[in-house]
Amino acid sequence: MKTTLRIIRWFHWVFIYILLFGLFFGQIHPGVHAVAWTQPVLHEGNKLVETWRFRDAERIQTEHISLFYPPSLKPQARLIAREAERVYARFEQRYGLPLNDPVPVFLFPDRTSLQEHFFWHKGQSASGVYYSGAIYLLNPHIWDQKLPDPKADPQTWAKRFRRQGPLVHEFAHLYLDKITKGNYPRWYTEAFAQWVEYKEIGYEWTPGSNQRPDALYAYSDLLRHFDDLPDQALAYRESFLFLQWSIRRQGEDSLGKLHKELKRGQDFAAAWQEVYGETPDDSFRQWARQAGYQLRD
Ligand SMILES: [Zn+2]
Repeated sequence: MKTTLRIIRWFHWVFIYILLFGLFFGQIHPGVHAVAWTQPVLHEGNKLVETWRFRDAERIQTEHISLFYPPSLKPQARLIAREAERVYARFEQRYGLPLNDPVPVFLFPDRTSLQEHFFWHKGQSASGVYYSGAIYLLNPHIWDQKLPDPKADPQTWAKRFRRQGPLVHEFAHLYLDKITKGNYPRWYTEAFAQWVEYKEIGYEWTPGSNQRPDALYAYSDLLRHFDDLPDQALAYRESFLFLQWSIRRQGEDSLGKLHKELKRGQDFAAAWQEVYGETPDDSFRQWARQAGYQLRD
Protein backbone atom coordinates (compact mmCIF):
# COMPACT_ATOMS: atom_id res chain seq x y z
CA MET A 1 0.00 0.00 0.00
CA LYS A 2 2.83 2.37 0.94
CA THR A 3 4.64 1.63 -2.31
CA THR A 4 1.38 2.27 -4.19
CA LEU A 5 1.04 5.69 -2.59
CA ARG A 6 4.69 6.49 -3.28
CA ILE A 7 4.31 5.66 -6.96
CA ILE A 8 1.09 7.68 -7.23
CA ARG A 9 2.78 10.65 -5.55
CA TRP A 10 5.76 10.30 -7.85
CA PHE A 11 3.50 10.39 -10.90
CA HIS A 12 1.68 13.43 -9.51
CA TRP A 13 5.00 15.25 -9.18
CA VAL A 14 5.93 14.33 -12.73
CA PHE A 15 2.57 15.76 -13.85
CA ILE A 16 3.20 18.97 -11.93
CA TYR A 17 6.62 19.42 -13.54
CA ILE A 18 5.14 18.85 -16.97
CA LEU A 19 2.36 21.28 -16.19
CA LEU A 20 4.77 23.97 -14.95
CA PHE A 21 6.84 23.48 -18.06
CA GLY A 22 3.69 23.90 -20.14
CA LEU A 23 2.70 27.08 -18.30
CA PHE A 24 6.20 28.50 -18.67
CA PHE A 25 6.18 27.68 -22.36
CA GLY A 26 2.76 29.35 -22.62
CA GLN A 27 4.28 32.49 -21.11
CA ILE A 28 7.11 32.71 -23.61
CA HIS A 29 4.77 32.01 -26.48
CA PRO A 30 1.69 34.05 -25.65
CA GLY A 31 -1.43 32.85 -27.40
CA VAL A 32 -0.36 29.22 -27.16
CA HIS A 33 -2.74 27.52 -24.79
CA ALA A 34 -0.49 25.82 -22.23
CA VAL A 35 -2.57 22.73 -21.48
CA ALA A 36 -2.61 21.82 -25.17
CA TRP A 37 1.07 20.92 -24.90
CA THR A 38 0.76 18.93 -21.75
CA GLN A 39 -2.60 17.25 -22.27
CA PRO A 40 -1.49 14.17 -24.25
CA VAL A 41 1.28 13.51 -21.71
CA LEU A 42 -1.09 13.95 -18.77
CA HIS A 43 -3.70 11.65 -20.31
CA GLU A 44 -1.10 9.03 -21.14
CA GLY A 45 0.34 9.29 -17.63
CA ASN A 46 -3.09 8.97 -16.05
CA LYS A 47 -3.81 5.89 -18.15
CA LEU A 48 -0.53 4.32 -17.03
CA VAL A 49 -1.14 5.02 -13.35
CA GLU A 50 -4.73 3.82 -13.47
CA THR A 51 -3.98 0.68 -15.44
CA TRP A 52 -1.44 -0.12 -12.75
CA ARG A 53 -3.85 0.67 -9.90
CA PHE A 54 -6.44 -1.59 -11.57
CA ARG A 55 -3.96 -4.37 -12.34
CA ASP A 56 -6.02 -6.92 -10.34
CA ALA A 57 -9.30 -5.97 -12.02
CA GLU A 58 -10.91 -7.90 -14.84
CA ARG A 59 -10.91 -6.26 -18.23
CA ILE A 60 -13.17 -6.13 -21.28
CA GLN A 61 -11.53 -4.86 -24.43
CA THR A 62 -13.81 -3.74 -27.25
CA GLU A 63 -12.93 -1.72 -30.33
CA HIS A 64 -13.06 1.70 -28.62
CA ILE A 65 -13.29 0.88 -24.91
CA SER A 66 -11.05 -0.70 -22.26
CA LEU A 67 -13.33 -1.44 -19.33
CA PHE A 68 -11.77 -2.42 -15.99
CA TYR A 69 -14.17 -3.94 -13.46
CA PRO A 70 -14.29 -5.97 -10.25
CA PRO A 71 -15.08 -9.68 -10.89
CA SER A 72 -18.35 -9.39 -8.90
CA LEU A 73 -19.74 -7.01 -11.56
CA LYS A 74 -19.16 -9.12 -14.65
CA PRO A 75 -22.74 -9.10 -16.02
CA GLN A 76 -22.99 -5.34 -15.45
CA ALA A 77 -19.57 -4.77 -17.04
CA ARG A 78 -20.61 -6.60 -20.21
CA LEU A 79 -23.70 -4.44 -20.60
CA ILE A 80 -21.80 -1.24 -19.78
CA ALA A 81 -19.12 -2.04 -22.37
CA ARG A 82 -21.82 -2.53 -24.97
CA GLU A 83 -23.52 0.72 -23.99
CA ALA A 84 -20.21 2.58 -24.05
CA GLU A 85 -19.63 1.38 -27.63
CA ARG A 86 -23.09 2.65 -28.58
CA VAL A 87 -22.40 6.05 -27.04
CA TYR A 88 -19.01 6.15 -28.72
CA ALA A 89 -20.56 5.36 -32.12
CA ARG A 90 -23.15 8.10 -31.59
CA PHE A 91 -20.46 10.69 -30.78
CA GLU A 92 -18.34 9.60 -33.69
CA GLN A 93 -21.25 9.88 -36.09
CA ARG A 94 -22.52 13.20 -34.76
CA TYR A 95 -19.37 15.08 -33.81
CA GLY A 96 -16.39 12.98 -34.92
CA LEU A 97 -14.43 11.78 -31.91
CA PRO A 98 -10.74 12.63 -32.34
CA LEU A 99 -9.39 9.48 -30.64
CA ASN A 100 -6.63 7.08 -31.55
CA ASP A 101 -6.68 4.81 -28.51
CA PRO A 102 -9.51 3.02 -26.70
CA VAL A 103 -11.12 5.04 -23.89
CA PRO A 104 -10.21 3.68 -20.44
CA VAL A 105 -13.34 3.15 -18.31
CA PHE A 106 -13.09 2.09 -14.65
CA LEU A 107 -16.01 0.58 -12.76
CA PHE A 108 -16.19 0.86 -8.95
CA PRO A 109 -18.27 -1.53 -6.81
CA ASP A 110 -19.34 1.03 -4.15
CA ARG A 111 -19.16 4.65 -3.06
CA THR A 112 -16.28 4.06 -0.64
CA SER A 113 -13.94 2.67 -3.29
CA LEU A 114 -14.71 5.62 -5.59
CA GLN A 115 -14.20 8.12 -2.74
CA GLU A 116 -10.89 6.53 -1.76
CA HIS A 117 -9.68 6.49 -5.33
CA PHE A 118 -10.11 10.27 -5.68
CA PHE A 119 -9.26 11.10 -2.04
CA TRP A 120 -12.76 12.56 -1.63
CA HIS A 121 -14.33 13.31 1.74
CA LYS A 122 -17.13 11.09 3.04
CA GLY A 123 -20.10 13.08 1.72
CA GLN A 124 -18.73 13.45 -1.79
CA SER A 125 -20.10 11.15 -4.47
CA ALA A 126 -21.01 10.86 -8.15
CA SER A 127 -22.41 8.25 -10.49
CA GLY A 128 -19.68 9.07 -13.00
CA VAL A 129 -16.50 11.10 -13.30
CA TYR A 130 -14.43 12.24 -16.24
CA TYR A 131 -10.79 12.85 -15.40
CA SER A 132 -7.74 13.25 -17.61
CA GLY A 133 -8.82 11.15 -20.58
CA ALA A 134 -10.56 8.42 -18.54
CA ILE A 135 -14.13 7.69 -17.42
CA TYR A 136 -14.91 6.42 -13.91
CA LEU A 137 -18.27 4.84 -13.13
CA LEU A 138 -19.96 3.87 -9.91
CA ASN A 139 -21.76 0.51 -9.81
CA PRO A 140 -25.19 1.52 -11.22
CA HIS A 141 -27.02 -0.57 -8.59
CA ILE A 142 -25.83 1.91 -5.97
CA TRP A 143 -27.56 4.92 -7.55
CA ASP A 144 -30.55 3.07 -9.04
CA GLN A 145 -32.15 0.52 -6.75
CA LYS A 146 -34.80 -0.28 -9.34
CA LEU A 147 -32.35 -1.80 -11.81
CA PRO A 148 -33.25 -5.44 -12.47
CA ASP A 149 -30.86 -8.38 -12.24
CA PRO A 150 -28.60 -7.85 -15.29
CA LYS A 151 -28.50 -11.58 -16.04
CA ALA A 152 -32.25 -12.13 -15.77
CA ASP A 153 -33.30 -9.01 -17.69
CA PRO A 154 -30.37 -7.49 -19.60
CA GLN A 155 -32.62 -5.48 -21.95
CA THR A 156 -34.39 -3.53 -19.22
CA TRP A 157 -31.10 -3.10 -17.39
CA ALA A 158 -29.39 -1.62 -20.44
CA LYS A 159 -32.35 0.62 -21.27
CA ARG A 160 -32.53 2.07 -17.75
CA PHE A 161 -28.78 2.54 -17.61
CA ARG A 162 -28.83 4.31 -20.97
CA ARG A 163 -31.53 6.75 -19.87
CA GLN A 164 -30.39 7.43 -16.30
CA GLY A 165 -26.69 6.65 -16.50
CA PRO A 166 -23.75 9.03 -16.65
CA LEU A 167 -22.14 7.62 -19.83
CA VAL A 168 -23.39 10.26 -22.29
CA HIS A 169 -22.49 13.05 -19.86
CA GLU A 170 -18.96 11.75 -19.23
CA PHE A 171 -18.36 11.08 -22.93
CA ALA A 172 -19.34 14.69 -23.63
CA HIS A 173 -16.64 15.83 -21.17
CA LEU A 174 -14.15 13.53 -22.86
CA TYR A 175 -15.08 14.78 -26.31
CA LEU A 176 -14.80 18.46 -25.35
CA ASP A 177 -11.51 17.89 -23.56
CA LYS A 178 -9.99 16.09 -26.56
CA ILE A 179 -11.36 18.40 -29.24
CA THR A 180 -10.26 21.63 -27.49
CA LYS A 181 -7.13 20.14 -25.90
CA GLY A 182 -8.39 21.12 -22.47
CA ASN A 183 -9.04 24.77 -23.33
CA TYR A 184 -12.36 25.64 -21.62
CA PRO A 185 -13.65 26.81 -18.22
CA ARG A 186 -15.33 24.40 -15.79
CA TRP A 187 -18.82 25.92 -16.15
CA TYR A 188 -18.67 25.40 -19.90
CA THR A 189 -17.81 21.70 -19.84
CA GLU A 190 -20.66 21.08 -17.36
CA ALA A 191 -23.06 23.13 -19.49
CA PHE A 192 -21.99 21.30 -22.64
CA ALA A 193 -22.22 17.82 -21.05
CA GLN A 194 -25.76 18.58 -19.82
CA TRP A 195 -26.73 19.95 -23.20
CA VAL A 196 -25.52 16.78 -24.96
CA GLU A 197 -27.39 14.67 -22.41
CA TYR A 198 -30.54 16.69 -23.00
CA LYS A 199 -30.16 16.40 -26.74
CA GLU A 200 -29.25 12.71 -26.92
CA ILE A 201 -31.39 11.16 -24.19
CA GLY A 202 -33.73 13.96 -23.12
CA TYR A 203 -32.30 14.00 -19.61
CA GLU A 204 -32.27 17.16 -17.47
CA TRP A 205 -30.88 17.42 -13.97
CA THR A 206 -33.48 19.41 -12.02
CA PRO A 207 -33.28 18.59 -8.32
CA GLY A 208 -35.59 20.72 -6.10
CA SER A 209 -34.10 24.15 -5.55
CA ASN A 210 -32.84 24.86 -9.03
CA GLN A 211 -36.13 24.73 -10.94
CA ARG A 212 -37.03 28.35 -10.28
CA PRO A 213 -34.28 29.94 -8.18
CA ASP A 214 -34.73 33.32 -6.45
CA ALA A 215 -31.44 34.62 -7.78
CA LEU A 216 -28.67 33.32 -10.02
CA TYR A 217 -24.94 33.24 -9.59
CA ALA A 218 -23.33 35.87 -11.80
CA TYR A 219 -21.28 34.81 -14.81
CA SER A 220 -18.06 35.78 -13.03
CA ASP A 221 -18.95 33.36 -10.19
CA LEU A 222 -19.48 30.51 -12.64
CA LEU A 223 -16.27 31.37 -14.42
CA ARG A 224 -14.02 31.75 -11.38
CA HIS A 225 -15.44 29.59 -8.61
CA PHE A 226 -17.67 27.00 -10.26
CA ASP A 227 -16.70 24.12 -7.96
CA ASP A 228 -16.81 26.22 -4.79
CA LEU A 229 -20.31 27.62 -5.24
CA PRO A 230 -22.43 26.32 -2.32
CA ASP A 231 -25.50 25.53 -4.45
CA GLN A 232 -23.95 23.21 -7.02
CA ALA A 233 -27.33 22.19 -8.44
CA LEU A 234 -28.01 25.84 -9.26
CA ALA A 235 -24.56 26.40 -10.76
CA TYR A 236 -25.05 23.38 -13.05
CA ARG A 237 -28.60 24.32 -13.96
CA GLU A 238 -27.97 27.92 -14.89
CA SER A 239 -24.88 26.97 -16.91
CA PHE A 240 -27.01 24.53 -18.89
CA LEU A 241 -29.93 26.92 -19.41
CA PHE A 242 -27.62 29.73 -20.48
CA LEU A 243 -25.83 27.56 -23.04
CA GLN A 244 -29.09 26.07 -24.29
CA TRP A 245 -30.45 29.59 -24.86
CA SER A 246 -27.27 30.65 -26.69
CA ILE A 247 -27.45 27.59 -28.96
CA ARG A 248 -31.14 28.19 -29.69
CA ARG A 249 -30.36 31.78 -30.59
CA GLN A 250 -27.37 31.11 -32.84
CA GLY A 251 -27.91 27.52 -33.96
CA GLU A 252 -25.99 24.35 -33.25
CA ASP A 253 -23.31 25.28 -35.75
CA SER A 254 -22.14 27.93 -33.30
CA LEU A 255 -20.86 25.16 -31.01
CA GLY A 256 -18.62 23.72 -33.69
CA LYS A 257 -17.24 27.20 -34.39
CA LEU A 258 -16.63 27.85 -30.70
CA HIS A 259 -14.79 24.55 -30.28
CA LYS A 260 -12.69 25.27 -33.34
CA GLU A 261 -11.57 28.59 -31.84
CA LEU A 262 -10.78 26.89 -28.55
CA LYS A 263 -8.85 24.20 -30.37
CA ARG A 264 -6.72 26.94 -31.94
CA GLY A 265 -5.79 28.01 -28.41
CA GLN A 266 -7.97 31.11 -28.37
CA ASP A 267 -8.93 32.39 -24.92
CA PHE A 268 -12.51 31.33 -24.01
CA ALA A 269 -13.98 34.86 -23.78
CA ALA A 270 -12.39 35.87 -27.09
CA ALA A 271 -13.58 32.66 -28.76
CA TRP A 272 -17.10 33.25 -27.43
CA GLN A 273 -17.08 36.84 -28.66
CA GLU A 274 -15.90 35.74 -32.09
CA VAL A 275 -18.81 33.31 -32.42
CA TYR A 276 -21.63 35.03 -30.52
CA GLY A 277 -20.67 38.64 -31.24
CA GLU A 278 -20.54 39.74 -27.57
CA THR A 279 -18.70 38.84 -24.37
CA PRO A 280 -19.93 35.78 -22.46
CA ASP A 281 -20.85 38.11 -19.59
CA ASP A 282 -23.06 40.23 -21.89
CA SER A 283 -24.72 37.12 -23.33
CA PHE A 284 -25.30 35.84 -19.82
CA ARG A 285 -26.91 39.09 -18.63
CA GLN A 286 -29.18 39.12 -21.65
CA TRP A 287 -30.26 35.57 -21.07
CA ALA A 288 -30.94 36.23 -17.38
CA ARG A 289 -32.91 39.40 -18.16
CA GLN A 290 -35.15 37.87 -20.81
CA ALA A 291 -35.79 34.80 -18.65
CA GLY A 292 -36.79 37.07 -15.77
CA TYR A 293 -34.00 35.98 -13.40
CA GLN A 294 -32.32 38.17 -10.82
CA LEU A 295 -28.57 37.95 -10.33
CA ARG A 296 -27.16 37.46 -6.83
CA ASP A 297 -25.30 40.37 -5.26
ZN1 LIG B 1 -20.04 16.68 -15.45
